[in-house]
Amino acid sequence: MKITAIESSVISLPFTMGGPHARFAGQLWDHLEILLVKVETEDGLVGWGEAFGHAAIASTRAALDSIVAPLVLGRDATDINGLTRSILHATHLLGRNGSFVYAYSGIEIALWDLAGKRANKPVWQLLGGPDRAELQAYASLLWYSDPALVEKNVTAAASQGYRYIKLHEVTREATLAGLEAPGAENVRIMLDVNCAWLPPQARDMADSLAGDHLLWLEEPVWPPEDVHSLASVRARGIPIAAGENVAGLFGFKSLIEAGAIDIAQPSVTKIGGIGEMVKIIHLCQAHGIEVFPHCPYFGPGLLASYHVASALIENPLIEILWVDMEANPFDPWVRSTNGHVRLPQGPGLGVDPDPEVMERYRKGTVTRTA
Ligand SMILES: [Mg+2]
Repeated sequence: MKITAIESSVISLPFTMGGPHARFAGQLWDHLEILLVKVETEDGLVGWGEAFGHAAIASTRAALDSIVAPLVLGRDATDINGLTRSILHATHLLGRNGSFVYAYSGIEIALWDLAGKRANKPVWQLLGGPDRAELQAYASLLWYSDPALVEKNVTAAASQGYRYIKLHEVTREATLAGLEAPGAENVRIMLDVNCAWLPPQARDMADSLAGDHLLWLEEPVWPPEDVHSLASVRARGIPIAAGENVAGLFGFKSLIEAGAIDIAQPSVTKIGGIGEMVKIIHLCQAHGIEVFPHCPYFGPGLLASYHVASALIENPLIEILWVDMEANPFDPWVRSTNGHVRLPQGPGLGVDPDPEVMERYRKGTVTRTA
Protein backbone atom coordinates (compact mmCIF):
# COMPACT_ATOMS: atom_id res chain seq x y z
CA MET A 1 0.00 0.00 0.00
CA LYS A 2 1.97 2.95 -1.37
CA ILE A 3 2.36 6.25 0.47
CA THR A 4 1.30 8.90 -2.04
CA ALA A 5 1.27 12.21 -0.12
CA ILE A 6 2.68 13.70 3.08
CA GLU A 7 1.44 17.04 4.36
CA SER A 8 2.80 19.12 7.23
CA SER A 9 0.66 21.80 8.87
CA VAL A 10 1.23 24.02 11.87
CA ILE A 11 -1.82 24.57 14.07
CA SER A 12 -1.30 27.52 16.40
CA LEU A 13 -3.59 27.73 19.42
CA PRO A 14 -3.90 30.67 21.84
CA PHE A 15 -3.75 29.56 25.48
CA THR A 16 -3.47 30.69 29.08
CA MET A 17 -1.25 28.97 31.66
CA GLY A 18 -2.22 30.26 35.10
CA GLY A 19 0.54 32.88 35.12
CA PRO A 20 2.54 35.04 32.73
CA HIS A 21 3.59 33.43 29.45
CA ALA A 22 7.13 32.10 29.71
CA ARG A 23 10.03 32.25 27.28
CA PHE A 24 11.11 28.91 25.83
CA ALA A 25 14.38 28.51 23.88
CA GLY A 26 14.55 32.29 23.53
CA GLN A 27 11.00 32.62 22.17
CA LEU A 28 7.93 34.01 23.88
CA TRP A 29 5.66 30.99 24.31
CA ASP A 30 2.19 32.43 23.83
CA HIS A 31 0.71 29.88 21.38
CA LEU A 32 0.59 26.10 21.64
CA GLU A 33 1.69 24.78 18.28
CA ILE A 34 1.04 21.35 16.82
CA LEU A 35 3.18 20.12 13.92
CA LEU A 36 0.52 17.97 12.32
CA VAL A 37 1.56 15.32 9.79
CA LYS A 38 -0.97 13.86 7.36
CA VAL A 39 -0.01 10.73 5.42
CA GLU A 40 -2.13 9.51 2.52
CA THR A 41 -1.97 6.14 0.78
CA GLU A 42 -2.87 5.15 -2.79
CA ASP A 43 -6.35 4.00 -1.74
CA GLY A 44 -7.14 7.52 -0.44
CA LEU A 45 -6.95 6.54 3.26
CA VAL A 46 -5.48 9.24 5.51
CA GLY A 47 -3.52 8.93 8.78
CA TRP A 48 -2.58 11.70 11.22
CA GLY A 49 0.61 12.07 13.23
CA GLU A 50 2.37 14.73 15.28
CA ALA A 51 6.08 15.55 15.22
CA PHE A 52 7.83 17.40 18.04
CA GLY A 53 6.84 20.36 18.59
CA HIS A 54 7.12 23.50 20.70
CA ALA A 55 10.05 25.81 19.81
CA ALA A 56 11.49 23.06 17.54
CA ILE A 57 8.67 23.28 14.99
CA ALA A 58 10.55 25.28 12.34
CA SER A 59 13.53 22.89 12.35
CA THR A 60 11.45 19.69 12.62
CA ARG A 61 9.28 20.89 9.77
CA ALA A 62 12.28 21.71 7.58
CA ALA A 63 13.66 18.20 8.19
CA LEU A 64 10.26 16.69 7.41
CA ASP A 65 9.51 18.62 4.23
CA SER A 66 13.02 18.60 2.76
CA ILE A 67 14.45 15.17 3.64
CA VAL A 68 12.21 12.76 5.53
CA ALA A 69 8.96 13.07 3.53
CA PRO A 70 10.75 12.58 0.16
CA LEU A 71 12.44 9.44 1.58
CA VAL A 72 9.10 8.00 2.73
CA LEU A 73 7.00 8.82 -0.35
CA GLY A 74 6.31 5.78 -2.55
CA ARG A 75 7.16 3.33 0.25
CA ASP A 76 4.82 0.67 1.69
CA ALA A 77 2.72 2.15 4.50
CA THR A 78 2.10 -1.26 6.07
CA ASP A 79 5.80 -2.10 6.58
CA ILE A 80 6.23 0.22 9.57
CA ASN A 81 9.18 -1.62 11.11
CA GLY A 82 11.01 -1.80 7.78
CA LEU A 83 10.44 1.91 7.16
CA THR A 84 11.72 2.83 10.62
CA ARG A 85 14.89 0.82 10.06
CA SER A 86 15.45 2.29 6.63
CA ILE A 87 14.60 5.97 7.28
CA LEU A 88 16.48 6.21 10.58
CA HIS A 89 19.50 4.62 8.94
CA ALA A 90 19.28 6.98 5.97
CA THR A 91 19.29 10.01 8.31
CA HIS A 92 21.53 8.81 11.14
CA LEU A 93 24.47 11.00 10.09
CA LEU A 94 22.15 14.01 10.49
CA GLY A 95 21.54 13.30 14.18
CA ARG A 96 20.22 10.40 16.22
CA ASN A 97 18.18 12.70 18.46
CA GLY A 98 16.71 15.82 16.90
CA SER A 99 14.79 17.17 13.93
CA PHE A 100 15.08 14.17 11.64
CA VAL A 101 13.98 11.60 14.23
CA TYR A 102 11.22 13.97 15.42
CA ALA A 103 10.03 14.36 11.81
CA TYR A 104 10.00 10.60 11.25
CA SER A 105 8.15 10.12 14.56
CA GLY A 106 5.26 12.19 13.18
CA ILE A 107 5.06 10.04 10.06
CA GLU A 108 5.34 6.80 12.04
CA ILE A 109 2.43 7.77 14.28
CA ALA A 110 0.36 8.51 11.15
CA LEU A 111 1.24 5.04 9.79
CA TRP A 112 -0.19 3.44 12.95
CA ASP A 113 -3.32 5.55 12.54
CA LEU A 114 -3.56 4.21 8.98
CA ALA A 115 -2.91 0.61 10.13
CA GLY A 116 -5.71 0.85 12.68
CA LYS A 117 -8.12 2.39 10.19
CA ARG A 118 -7.29 -0.33 7.67
CA ALA A 119 -7.88 -3.05 10.30
CA ASN A 120 -10.91 -1.18 11.70
CA LYS A 121 -9.38 -1.39 15.19
CA PRO A 122 -8.06 1.21 17.62
CA VAL A 123 -4.28 1.23 17.98
CA TRP A 124 -4.53 0.05 21.60
CA GLN A 125 -6.25 -3.07 20.29
CA LEU A 126 -3.60 -3.63 17.59
CA LEU A 127 -1.07 -3.53 20.44
CA GLY A 128 -3.02 -6.12 22.42
CA GLY A 129 -4.31 -3.80 25.11
CA PRO A 130 -7.41 -4.01 27.31
CA ASP A 131 -10.60 -2.08 26.65
CA ARG A 132 -10.57 0.83 29.10
CA ALA A 133 -12.88 3.82 29.16
CA GLU A 134 -10.39 6.26 30.67
CA LEU A 135 -6.85 6.73 31.93
CA GLN A 136 -5.52 8.52 35.00
CA ALA A 137 -3.87 11.82 34.09
CA TYR A 138 -1.56 14.19 35.91
CA ALA A 139 -1.53 17.96 35.66
CA SER A 140 1.86 19.09 34.41
CA LEU A 141 2.11 22.67 35.66
CA LEU A 142 4.28 25.19 33.83
CA TRP A 143 7.22 27.04 35.35
CA TYR A 144 6.07 29.99 37.46
CA SER A 145 9.02 30.56 39.86
CA ASP A 146 6.65 32.64 42.03
CA PRO A 147 5.60 30.47 45.04
CA ALA A 148 2.21 32.24 45.21
CA LEU A 149 1.45 31.22 41.61
CA VAL A 150 2.62 27.65 42.29
CA GLU A 151 0.27 27.44 45.26
CA LYS A 152 -2.64 28.94 43.32
CA ASN A 153 -2.24 26.54 40.40
CA VAL A 154 -1.78 23.43 42.56
CA THR A 155 -4.99 24.30 44.42
CA ALA A 156 -6.80 24.87 41.11
CA ALA A 157 -5.56 21.58 39.61
CA ALA A 158 -6.49 19.64 42.76
CA SER A 159 -9.97 21.19 42.71
CA GLN A 160 -10.37 19.99 39.09
CA GLY A 161 -9.93 16.42 40.31
CA TYR A 162 -6.25 15.80 39.61
CA ARG A 163 -4.67 13.40 42.12
CA TYR A 164 -1.20 13.76 40.62
CA ILE A 165 0.41 17.14 39.92
CA LYS A 166 3.86 17.85 38.55
CA LEU A 167 5.72 21.08 39.27
CA HIS A 168 8.35 22.64 37.01
CA GLU A 169 10.26 24.59 39.64
CA VAL A 170 13.91 24.71 40.64
CA THR A 171 13.81 26.04 44.22
CA ARG A 172 12.74 24.24 47.38
CA GLU A 173 10.71 27.32 48.34
CA ALA A 174 8.55 27.09 45.20
CA THR A 175 8.32 23.30 45.57
CA LEU A 176 7.14 23.59 49.18
CA ALA A 177 4.52 26.14 48.06
CA GLY A 178 3.09 23.37 45.87
CA LEU A 179 3.40 20.62 48.48
CA GLU A 180 1.68 22.74 51.12
CA ALA A 181 -0.98 24.33 48.88
CA PRO A 182 -4.60 24.04 50.03
CA GLY A 183 -5.98 20.92 48.35
CA ALA A 184 -2.57 19.24 48.00
CA GLU A 185 -3.22 16.92 50.99
CA ASN A 186 -4.81 14.32 48.71
CA VAL A 187 -2.42 14.79 45.82
CA ARG A 188 0.94 13.23 44.97
CA ILE A 189 3.42 15.85 43.79
CA MET A 190 6.27 15.33 41.31
CA LEU A 191 9.08 17.79 40.58
CA ASP A 192 10.63 18.29 37.13
CA VAL A 193 13.66 20.58 36.98
CA ASN A 194 14.51 20.10 33.27
CA CYS A 195 18.24 19.38 33.81
CA ALA A 196 18.78 22.60 35.79
CA TRP A 197 21.60 21.42 38.05
CA LEU A 198 25.18 20.26 37.78
CA PRO A 199 25.71 16.97 39.62
CA PRO A 200 26.97 18.34 42.99
CA GLN A 201 24.03 20.77 43.25
CA ALA A 202 21.62 18.06 42.12
CA ARG A 203 22.83 15.80 44.96
CA ASP A 204 22.50 18.65 47.48
CA MET A 205 18.99 19.47 46.26
CA ALA A 206 18.02 15.79 46.39
CA ASP A 207 19.20 15.74 50.02
CA SER A 208 17.22 18.88 50.89
CA LEU A 209 14.04 17.51 49.22
CA ALA A 210 14.45 13.97 50.61
CA GLY A 211 11.79 14.31 53.34
CA ASP A 212 9.22 16.07 51.17
CA HIS A 213 7.44 12.92 49.85
CA LEU A 214 7.90 13.71 46.17
CA LEU A 215 6.59 10.90 43.97
CA TRP A 216 9.54 11.49 41.66
CA LEU A 217 12.32 13.95 40.83
CA GLU A 218 12.64 14.43 37.07
CA GLU A 219 15.79 15.21 35.11
CA PRO A 220 17.79 16.71 37.99
CA VAL A 221 21.17 16.60 36.19
CA TRP A 222 22.81 18.59 33.43
CA PRO A 223 23.59 17.25 30.88
CA PRO A 224 20.85 14.61 30.50
CA GLU A 225 23.27 12.05 29.05
CA ASP A 226 25.37 12.05 32.26
CA VAL A 227 23.78 8.80 33.40
CA HIS A 228 26.31 8.08 36.15
CA SER A 229 25.75 11.41 37.89
CA LEU A 230 22.02 10.80 37.60
CA ALA A 231 22.58 7.45 39.35
CA SER A 232 24.46 9.27 42.12
CA VAL A 233 21.43 11.54 42.67
CA ARG A 234 19.12 8.53 42.67
CA ALA A 235 21.23 7.05 45.49
CA ARG A 236 20.08 9.94 47.71
CA GLY A 237 16.64 8.34 47.89
CA ILE A 238 14.01 10.15 45.77
CA PRO A 239 12.78 8.06 42.82
CA ILE A 240 14.29 9.46 39.60
CA ALA A 241 12.40 9.93 36.33
CA ALA A 242 14.05 10.73 32.99
CA GLY A 243 14.03 9.88 29.32
CA GLU A 244 12.37 12.68 27.35
CA ASN A 245 15.79 13.73 25.99
CA VAL A 246 17.11 10.25 25.29
CA ALA A 247 18.02 8.96 21.83
CA GLY A 248 15.98 5.82 21.20
CA LEU A 249 15.97 2.37 22.75
CA PHE A 250 19.72 2.38 23.39
CA GLY A 251 19.53 5.65 25.30
CA PHE A 252 17.18 3.91 27.73
CA LYS A 253 19.50 0.89 27.85
CA SER A 254 22.28 3.25 29.01
CA LEU A 255 20.04 4.81 31.69
CA ILE A 256 19.02 1.39 32.96
CA GLU A 257 22.53 -0.11 32.93
CA ALA A 258 23.81 2.88 34.93
CA GLY A 259 21.09 2.34 37.55
CA ALA A 260 20.00 5.92 36.89
CA ILE A 261 16.18 5.73 36.80
CA ASP A 262 13.12 4.36 38.56
CA ILE A 263 10.72 5.79 35.97
CA ALA A 264 11.28 5.99 32.20
CA GLN A 265 9.66 8.76 30.17
CA PRO A 266 9.91 8.05 26.44
CA SER A 267 8.31 10.68 24.23
CA VAL A 268 6.46 9.37 21.19
CA THR A 269 6.89 12.48 19.00
CA LYS A 270 10.65 12.56 19.64
CA ILE A 271 11.85 8.99 20.02
CA GLY A 272 10.87 7.49 16.65
CA GLY A 273 7.16 6.88 17.11
CA ILE A 274 4.95 4.12 18.50
CA GLY A 275 7.16 1.16 17.46
CA GLU A 276 10.19 2.53 19.33
CA MET A 277 8.00 3.30 22.37
CA VAL A 278 6.81 -0.31 22.45
CA LYS A 279 10.40 -1.62 22.44
CA ILE A 280 11.40 0.82 25.19
CA ILE A 281 8.45 -0.14 27.39
CA HIS A 282 9.28 -3.83 27.06
CA LEU A 283 12.95 -3.17 27.88
CA CYS A 284 12.00 -1.12 30.96
CA GLN A 285 9.50 -3.68 32.18
CA ALA A 286 12.13 -6.43 31.88
CA HIS A 287 14.25 -4.38 34.30
CA GLY A 288 11.51 -3.46 36.77
CA ILE A 289 11.43 0.18 35.63
CA GLU A 290 8.06 1.97 35.53
CA VAL A 291 7.11 3.87 32.36
CA PHE A 292 5.07 7.06 32.34
CA PRO A 293 5.29 8.67 28.90
CA HIS A 294 6.44 12.25 28.36
CA CYS A 295 3.52 13.70 26.41
CA PRO A 296 2.90 17.45 26.82
CA TYR A 297 1.30 17.45 23.36
CA PHE A 298 -2.01 18.58 21.99
CA GLY A 299 -2.75 16.37 18.97
CA PRO A 300 -1.98 12.88 17.62
CA GLY A 301 1.19 12.68 19.76
CA LEU A 302 -0.94 12.86 22.89
CA LEU A 303 -3.52 10.41 21.49
CA ALA A 304 -0.76 7.97 20.50
CA SER A 305 0.57 8.18 24.07
CA TYR A 306 -2.87 7.17 25.38
CA HIS A 307 -3.01 4.13 23.09
CA VAL A 308 0.50 2.87 23.85
CA ALA A 309 0.32 3.52 27.59
CA SER A 310 -3.10 1.93 27.88
CA ALA A 311 -2.06 -1.15 25.93
CA LEU A 312 1.27 -1.84 27.63
CA ILE A 313 1.24 -0.27 31.09
CA GLU A 314 -0.82 -1.75 33.91
CA ASN A 315 -1.58 1.56 35.63
CA PRO A 316 -0.96 4.32 33.09
CA LEU A 317 -0.45 7.93 34.13
CA ILE A 318 -0.81 10.47 31.32
CA GLU A 319 0.86 13.88 31.32
CA ILE A 320 -1.58 16.70 30.55
CA LEU A 321 -0.08 20.16 30.35
CA TRP A 322 -1.79 22.61 32.72
CA VAL A 323 -2.93 25.07 30.07
CA ASP A 324 -6.28 26.29 28.84
CA MET A 325 -6.51 26.26 25.05
CA GLU A 326 -8.97 28.50 23.22
CA ALA A 327 -9.87 25.51 21.01
CA ASN A 328 -8.22 22.40 19.57
CA PRO A 329 -9.05 20.39 16.41
CA PHE A 330 -8.82 17.21 18.55
CA ASP A 331 -11.29 18.39 21.20
CA PRO A 332 -12.47 17.07 23.54
CA TRP A 333 -10.04 14.12 23.49
CA VAL A 334 -6.96 16.18 24.37
CA ARG A 335 -8.52 17.53 27.59
CA SER A 336 -8.98 15.88 30.96
CA THR A 337 -12.10 15.66 33.07
CA ASN A 338 -11.84 15.04 36.80
CA GLY A 339 -8.18 14.09 36.42
CA HIS A 340 -8.77 11.51 33.69
CA VAL A 341 -8.63 11.36 29.90
CA ARG A 342 -10.87 9.21 27.74
CA LEU A 343 -9.38 6.43 25.63
CA PRO A 344 -10.64 6.74 22.01
CA GLN A 345 -12.50 3.68 20.77
CA GLY A 346 -12.56 4.42 17.03
CA PRO A 347 -10.20 2.86 14.46
CA GLY A 348 -6.57 4.04 14.38
CA LEU A 349 -5.91 6.81 16.87
CA GLY A 350 -9.66 7.15 17.00
CA VAL A 351 -9.88 10.91 16.39
CA ASP A 352 -9.47 12.89 13.17
CA PRO A 353 -9.01 16.68 13.40
CA ASP A 354 -12.05 18.90 13.05
CA PRO A 355 -11.49 20.57 9.63
CA GLU A 356 -13.22 23.80 10.62
CA VAL A 357 -11.09 24.25 13.77
CA MET A 358 -7.98 23.28 11.80
CA GLU A 359 -8.67 25.96 9.19
CA ARG A 360 -9.25 28.59 11.85
CA TYR A 361 -5.85 28.03 13.51
CA ARG A 362 -3.73 26.80 10.60
CA LYS A 363 -0.50 28.71 10.05
CA GLY A 364 0.51 27.07 6.79
CA THR A 365 0.70 23.75 4.97
CA VAL A 366 3.29 22.05 2.78
CA THR A 367 2.31 18.99 0.74
CA ARG A 368 4.76 16.56 -0.90
CA THR A 369 3.48 13.93 -3.34
CA ALA A 370 5.05 10.81 -4.81
MG1 LIG B 1 10.10 16.74 31.86
